[in-house]
Amino acid sequence: MERLEIIKSICQVINDNKDYLTELDREIGDGDHGVNLARGFEKIAAELPNMTNLSAAEVLSKMAMLLMSNVGGASGALYASALIKGSAVLKTHTTLDAQVIADTWQQMIDGIQLRGKAVLGEKTMLDSQIPAYQAFLAEISQAGSLSQGFAAAEQSALNGLNATRDIIATKGRASYLGERSLGHLDPGAASSYLMIKAISEALA
Ligand code: ADP
Ligand code: MG
Ligand code: MG
Repeated sequence: MERLEIIKSICQVINDNKDYLTELDREIGDGDHGVNLARGFEKIAAELPNMTNLSAAEVLSKMAMLLMSNVGGASGALYASALIKGSAVLKTHTTLDAQVIADTWQQMIDGIQLRGKAVLGEKTMLDSQIPAYQAFLAEISQAGSLSQGFAAAEQSALNGLNATRDIIATKGRASYLGERSLGHLDPGAASSYLMIKAISEALA
């Protein structure tokens, strides 16, 4: 699997689910999450042909810049922060094995937390990402392959996403709704799940 193909499938899944993500955000936010992300990921997709000679670290940093300048809204800055931190890890490695990817992902989550100050259980993108990362780490620690790691991550991301229904939002726009945020999925947890699923399917 070519690395840029994986990014292409992430761009694709965001584009395919633009309306779905926007609909989720209409329920507990301002109804722009899908539109926001699609704007950024369309730019990334358009730039992919120019990225063939870049290192993995450079690709992530380029993606961060494209999201930063094209995605309005909290999610653009949060995903960009993740990519910048991930890029810094990749810069120090020449091979991309499962452990390097785990370290990269861990730093990406750290980037989201540094910027957004949220923890697990506040009804944000972290609620699909953190369980997914933990499942990935557990799987590869037991000598699981990269694709087994992402398969486990995908399942845990989905469980984490579904669990956001039962959480009262305490960060981001949805927190303005208080208890009325109950019963709804978090849009960012949904977009993170979809990205993890796209990676998992690309590696399967
Ligand atoms: P905005 O709320 O500015 O319109 P988006 O609709 O694009 O931005 O993104 C909303 C998503 O961003 C939320 O569903 C949530 O997952 C995520 N989010 C918002 N604030 C935070 C935060 N502080 N930490 C982590 N994720 C957050
Ligand atoms: Mg929004
Ligand atoms: Mg907005």
